[in-house]
Amino acid sequence: MFDTAVIRRDFPILQETVNGKPVVFLDSAASSQKPVQVLDAMDKVYRTGYANVHRGVYTFSESATASYDAARAKIARFVGAPAECIVFTRNATEALNLIAYSYGRTFLSAGDEIIITELEHHANFVPWMQLAKERGVAVKFIPITPEGRLDVAKFDELLTTRTKLVSFAHVSNVLGTITAPKPLIERAHGAGAKVIVDGSQSAPHMRVNLTELDCDFFVFSGHKMLGPTGIGVLYAKQHLLDAMPPFLTGGDMISYVGFDDIRWNEVPLKFEAGTPAFVEAIGLGAAVDYLSALGMDAVRAHERSITAYALERVSEIPGATIVGPSDPDTRGGVVTFSLPKIHPHDLASLLDRDGVAIRAGHHCAQPLHQRLGLTATARASFYIYNQPNEVDALVDAIYKAKATLRK
Ligand code: PMP
Repeated sequence: MFDTAVIRRDFPILQETVNGKPVVFLDSAASSQKPVQVLDAMDKVYRTGYANVHRGVYTFSESATASYDAARAKIARFVGAPAECIVFTRNATEALNLIAYSYGRTFLSAGDEIIITELEHHANFVPWMQLAKERGVAVKFIPITPEGRLDVAKFDELLTTRTKLVSFAHVSNVLGTITAPKPLIERAHGAGAKVIVDGSQSAPHMRVNLTELDCDFFVFSGHKMLGPTGIGVLYAKQHLLDAMPPFLTGGDMISYVGFDDIRWNEVPLKFEAGTPAFVEAIGLGAAVDYLSALGMDAVRAHERSITAYALERVSEIPGATIVGPSDPDTRGGVVTFSLPKIHPHDLASLLDRDGVAIRAGHHCAQPLHQRLGLTATARASFYIYNQPNEVDALVDAIYKAKATLRK
């Protein structure tokens, strides 16, 4: 049973007050809060069984290694992928850079093309622009429609035999747009291109099955899905990981090092140089257990419903413009908006006085804001612990802020 009142009890931070008010946390798209189950799982390793993984033949090291391996297996199951295809990174940004450095700089050359979209987060924009500059690769952009969806017909025009990579966000962190990945993946494969799906805003919020999707790469961050910071995931098909050179080199990623020769470890360890963030991986494993127990379909249904309510309430505010699709069925749990003559930063600061935490700015999507003709927006985002009365608190605080700023 999905019961936010019960869920909230697992989140110590939600019992806190901010400026004397109960905290209304509406910034989970940036980073989610953590349940005791995740905090305890990490605390337990540090307190009762901490030692470096993969090195020792003593109890602590063996138990930490076993827990680390079990976390990888859990996370793999969570996204419907084989464990060998799950590479731990620091976050989604590092995973995308790993692809750009290792795959991009090995398999792409002058004249090749990469297709991304106008709505990408900088993490899925800057690495490709850098690669383009360095290697003479062209980057093309799938435009967005006025409603903030990808203009899929334009994708067909952009896709050519020169396209080597297609990379897009499954869910936009600004518009909330959910892009159905399968049709894009199939068309890109038809043209011989490899596909990267940025799952930063989908893996935490909906059921994802990478075997069914058949994308070549998929990335996400642990901290947006109840897990700790410092741990992210790169999924890639095994034959690609096998063919790709290492990104970072050093300990753990080798099978042999001599004066004469160096051989890489098998995947995924080939891409995990140095001591990994294994306590964080174990924390992410606990996060995935928590989400799996709730059921990802129930998570999505809850977010759909609270987002629908927020769209309705925010759109009633005089002058408010909400960006992105209006249909909550094709929209993730973010509601991004602007108000005439009120800077989002001023709004966010005033909301904070009422304990309401929202994000203001360009949300690491400056090109998208250029397209929208806006420099900054305000964003409320929702997760498993948010309740409709928090949407009411948001809207009340916005009215109050409007009155203050117009005085
Ligand atoms: N892609 C999207 C769609 C995101 O929302 C984010 C985080 N805001 C990222 C990538 C980057 O995530 P991280 O900062 O954890 O690397």
